[in-house]
Amino acid sequence: MEEISTDILVIGGGLAGVLSALEAEKSGLSVLIVGKFAIGLGTNSSLATQFTAANSRFSKQDHFEATVKAGKGLCHLNLVKVLVDNGTAAMETLKAYGIPVIERGIGYTIDLPKQSAQLPGVLLMKGLVERLRGSSVRLLPGLTIFDLVVEEGEIQGAFGFFKDGKPCLIRSKATVLAAGGAGAIYQRNDNQRSILGDGYTLALRAGLPIYDLEFVQCYPFVLAEPRLSSFILHVESKEGRLINEKGEDLLEELGIKENVRQARMTQRDRLSLFLYEASQKGDVYYDLTQVSEEAWDHFPLNFLRKSKFPFRERPFLISPAVHFFMGGVETDEKGATGIRGLFTAGEVVWGLHGANRHGGNALTECAVFGIMAGHSAAEYARQRESQQGQGIVPEPLTRKWERKANHYLRRRRGVFDHPRDLLKGLKSLAWKYAGPVREEKFLKEGLDHLVSLGRKIEQVYPATPSELFRKKELENVSLLIRAILEGSLLRTESRGSFYRTDFPQPDDPHWLKHTCYRLEKGGLKITHRPTKPPPSVH
Ligand SMILES: Cc1cc2nc3c(=O)[nH]c(=O)nc-3n(C[C@H](O)[C@H](O)[C@H](O)COP(=O)(O)OP(=O)(O)OC[C@H]3O[C@@H](n4cnc5c(N)ncnc54)[C@H](O)[C@@H]3O)c2cc1C
Repeated sequence: MEEISTDILVIGGGLAGVLSALEAEKSGLSVLIVGKFAIGLGTNSSLATQFTAANSRFSKQDHFEATVKAGKGLCHLNLVKVLVDNGTAAMETLKAYGIPVIERGIGYTIDLPKQSAQLPGVLLMKGLVERLRGSSVRLLPGLTIFDLVVEEGEIQGAFGFFKDGKPCLIRSKATVLAAGGAGAIYQRNDNQRSILGDGYTLALRAGLPIYDLEFVQCYPFVLAEPRLSSFILHVESKEGRLINEKGEDLLEELGIKENVRQARMTQRDRLSLFLYEASQKGDVYYDLTQVSEEAWDHFPLNFLRKSKFPFRERPFLISPAVHFFMGGVETDEKGATGIRGLFTAGEVVWGLHGANRHGGNALTECAVFGIMAGHSAAEYARQRESQQGQGIVPEPLTRKWERKANHYLRRRRGVFDHPRDLLKGLKSLAWKYAGPVREEKFLKEGLDHLVSLGRKIEQVYPATPSELFRKKELENVSLLIRAILEGSLLRTESRGSFYRTDFPQPDDPHWLKHTCYRLEKGGLKITHRPTKPPPSVH
């Protein structure tokens, strides 16, 4: 087993993790950042485009109100306030790292070189990773964390495996968990394939509760052509049309008078539900054949033009898809969690967005709370160093984790369903039974199917490194799907992104509550806790 020591460990190489690492490094302490794959690229952050934050046209008050309105009574107002108050300053921090941030709409974006067909997020993450490489931060891509190491309520580091199956114990004085969301646990999603909710399961298995996992946001326009990856379509062109198999205009059918671009901004969730239902009856297409020549020269259409697929020549299949998770780990305003020395930032965090996320707030959240978590982790590590000196981990811990590594690596040949097929089965179960539209009958049916898939997953005995990772994914994903199905069954209302056909209205008297998920000896336990009353002054 490889052992590594660092003052600060950052788990996750997206925007939240990379900013945490850069900020923590300013303390002069040693910082290590790990990611399942590359650091920076291959993350959801590299797919994104827009930050929402106060600018010359959009005030802090506008930002606060828009965020709270989208959250439908479930936002943590203290976190919203931190986001709003620090959003613009976070953009300045990005600029100081050399990122070409410019004002756009109700926030900021990355200034793309003229006619560049790169995604703004790619430019953002490439720039930040360059800064990381020029700093003392150690980058460790290709390491998947399997467990947080916690002793007596305090973080000691993390344990994981390299791609070749070699185990690794990292000892740290403070850790930032920035492992992103879980969109890829659904068959239809626009996330990177590694985004399977590891952050949530790491927290659950370390004894932390997670909250409101049943709130899952969809994006209406995601490429659904077979053989092409399910890529988000940035709908910027006024002339694009949504049509069905007969060529009928779907916006007209829905009574929406706006063009697709406007409708995306004002009615994203309604469109997702409508397109989901329309796609259950037949195919849904996006037609760009009438779009002006000029628009194809600029982002985002110049990005599509790079493809061999004839996007300009014929309508193509689209579908709504899972985009973002509102739920996650509880933190305070400085990123601290219920485990001493463990901080968190980014999509893995719960509370800011409530029942639905306002567009552009995820990137701002990563920036504001990533910076915050980096500083908090550095402060904690510094204090711990002065209290305990260098020897932070008692020796028996190594033996304990060597035993754990052997347990994970128990190689037993057996005949089992291929893990890839089982994962596919889980993802299609999630989309079918816990997708944009839910109902008691189907949620229960989903849970029954999950039991039988669960039996098959138990039979998987990893004999190769790749099977070791797949087995862990299967366990994590089935746990999260169980949580979403059970949590959705209990929430007998519709609110924000959460829609039940059998309870189509919000029910404030009963459901201004958060769902709390815990892992206990007997399995998953779900309870509810009322929302905090709003503070009297903002
Ligand atoms: C297509 C798309 C477009 C979007 N556009 C926007 C937008 O314009 N504006 C906006 O505000 N939001 C947008 N979002 C949402 C936003 O991009 C994400 O919420 C945000 O980038 C998440 O950042 P993060 O740092 O928390 O995690 P990510 O960027 O997802 O990174 C997670 C990191 O954790 C690592 N990781 C995960 N598990 C482990 C493990 N077990 N061990 C080690 N490492 C692990 C991953 O490898 C990865 O490096 C978009 C999302 C998508 C999918």
